[in-house]
Amino acid sequence: MISELVLATANGGKVRELQALLAGHDYHVRTQAEFACPEVPETGLSFVENALIKARNAARHCGLPAIADDSGLACDALNGAPGIYSARYAGDHATDTQNLLYLLQAMKRVPEVARTCRYVCVIAYLAHADDQLPVLAQGIWEGRVTTAPCGTGGFGYDPIFFVPTDGCTAAELAASRKEVLSHRGQALRELIARLPRGRDT
Ligand code: IMP
Repeated sequence: MISELVLATANGGKVRELQALLAGHDYHVRTQAEFACPEVPETGLSFVENALIKARNAARHCGLPAIADDSGLACDALNGAPGIYSARYAGDHATDTQNLLYLLQAMKRVPEVARTCRYVCVIAYLAHADDQLPVLAQGIWEGRVTTAPCGTGGFGYDPIFFVPTDGCTAAELAASRKEVLSHRGQALRELIARLPRGRDT
């Protein structure tokens, strides 16, 4: 049976990846943009809190079950920054390129051995806006921050996220390979496996 659900994000990169990951599952995937859903301030202090805030906002506005992803890049040399502030690291309306250059600057003096980092993703599913039992899943993808951008695929920090298993940046990976490895892919696969039968209708 096909269930309708809404993706609670305005980020084009995330929409593309989540839609690809959900393809082949029995969902009719809508985006919050189709409903002119307003963005909600991300006032939480953790990925979990922000994912729930966004999913609840979309479920309420669109009247559908909602999936929200809150994600970011955590760098060891910066004590986990930019973390939940990844989308606005260089300022409230910063572009992906501005954020990435700001991060390279912040890590200018960090030696190779200390450039370890990880992408983190928490995905929340709410069956409706007042759902008191959300389904949560998380994914973590280990990497290293490069010293210069490389590659044109993906989005966000991908051009400076070096993937040790593949010897290139995330922006140089085929989209299908990023789906397999990524924090978002891991989290969404776990989420789908854990959606209780019947709750998604
Ligand atoms: P959110 O909308 O608060 O979850 O912001 C997530 C931010 O983290 C994005 O805007 C990117 O800056 C960064 N990010 C999360 N996932 C990825 C990814 O897969 N590639 C590159 N950057 C990512």
